[in-house]
Amino acid sequence: MRIVPRPARHLAEAVRRGRLDPVDLVEGALARVERRADLGAVVESHAPQARAEARRLRRRTGRMGPLAGVPVLVKDNVCTRAGHTTCCSRMLAGYRAPDDATAVARLRDAGAIVVGKTTCDEFGLGSSTETAWQGPARNPHDPSRVPGGSSGGSAAAVAAGIVPLALGSDTGGSVRQPAALCGVVGLKPTWGGISRRGLVAFASSFDQIGPLGATVDDVALAFRVMAGPDPADATSGDRPFRADHATWSGGRIGIVDVEPGSPLAPAVEQAARTLGAAGMSVGRARLPDPHRSLFVYLALSAAELSSNLARFDGVRYGLRAAGAKDLDALYRRTRARGFGAEVRRRILLGTAVLAGPPDASRHARARAARRAIVREMGRLFETFELLLGPTTDGPAFLLGERLADPLAMYASDAHTVLASLAGLPAISLPAPARAGALPLGIQLMAPWNREDRLLAAARLLEEAGFRVEGPR
Ligand code: GLN
Repeated sequence: MRIVPRPARHLAEAVRRGRLDPVDLVEGALARVERRADLGAVVESHAPQARAEARRLRRRTGRMGPLAGVPVLVKDNVCTRAGHTTCCSRMLAGYRAPDDATAVARLRDAGAIVVGKTTCDEFGLGSSTETAWQGPARNPHDPSRVPGGSSGGSAAAVAAGIVPLALGSDTGGSVRQPAALCGVVGLKPTWGGISRRGLVAFASSFDQIGPLGATVDDVALAFRVMAGPDPADATSGDRPFRADHATWSGGRIGIVDVEPGSPLAPAVEQAARTLGAAGMSVGRARLPDPHRSLFVYLALSAAELSSNLARFDGVRYGLRAAGAKDLDALYRRTRARGFGAEVRRRILLGTAVLAGPPDASRHARARAARRAIVREMGRLFETFELLLGPTTDGPAFLLGERLADPLAMYASDAHTVLASLAGLPAISLPAPARAGALPLGIQLMAPWNREDRLLAAARLLEEAGFRVEGPR
């Protein structure tokens, strides 16, 4: 039986009512993983474990969760007990995590079945999924183009209909930007909204796990299942989050300035008109300078990265270079061999940022700049309840187009890093597109823990045509 991908919510409902067999669902997803191997979206499938789990679910007689039988894929920097967790780095080739990340465990408790891991930029550093050690992922709308990154494999897999839901992680835009370039929905929750236990750390004061899906409802459902405090992550869920998008009915929306001539301008205007017609008031919002924000993000995230990745030294995790005569040589050889060019570049950058006296380092200056940005965003949210703007400057770029030019690659995050710097929740959803056109994404940002506003407005827009059909 061939299962045509449908929203996760419908699939789970059919499984709960006994109208769909979870074994068929899982077989369908595994077959699509094989059939779409050309996309490079999946680095590893967990076929035996997924099949066993589907059979267990089929025999189950008790209550079933809200994601019963739904096949999902997980970004390769999120730990799963099954298979490997490599962060798409040679450093962790063959590494097996001791446990599921809390987010994965919660998805599985809700009945979801993990069918494999998706391709990402090495350790989540990048905007194109081209730095993956195993090779790049491709955009299903045009395979000569990137799917965005770093969660490009997850976005491509959802867009191609391999699975209805996938997990990504977002440090500076890695859920939202690939969601935009692949034409799917991607949510970056409030910092701390979902436990980071089991997410391999890149920049801990930014990192968030987030769901990617084909519909706003599915993304909301996955968020509800995963969100909330976790005793194993002291930064998680210390405040009540709101995920119920039925309870918020609108307010004042700030429209951010879009560069004249940007291909996103019509989509942002159309979204503003749609929200206006639904009774919300709209006004112009001036965001903090995006270029300055980008540099502050790069400096701080690289500093945290250089410290977080110090643990990969050939002693405890992953690769250990052979033939080293002493400990220093072991560190040097292992790190030179295990890390790719972009990871090494950022470690150098981060080390430079951290150098100098603690209160006069570049790090101290960047932290002060971050605080100013947080204050500015706070002031904007005194006037507006939501901010609306583009997710990216344009559609998916060609493979190889930005790879040799790090600054061009970093500029891909110009619209997404603000929410990351301020820890705010943000969502990207597809702009209406002509058949055959490349997807574009618009972004909504809300104050801390107000995912309900994002989801409510996103749903309104979705009903008004802010969705694209998957590529055929
Ligand atoms: N593209 C950004 C970077 O390279 C963001 C990555 C991410 O969010 N993980 O840092």
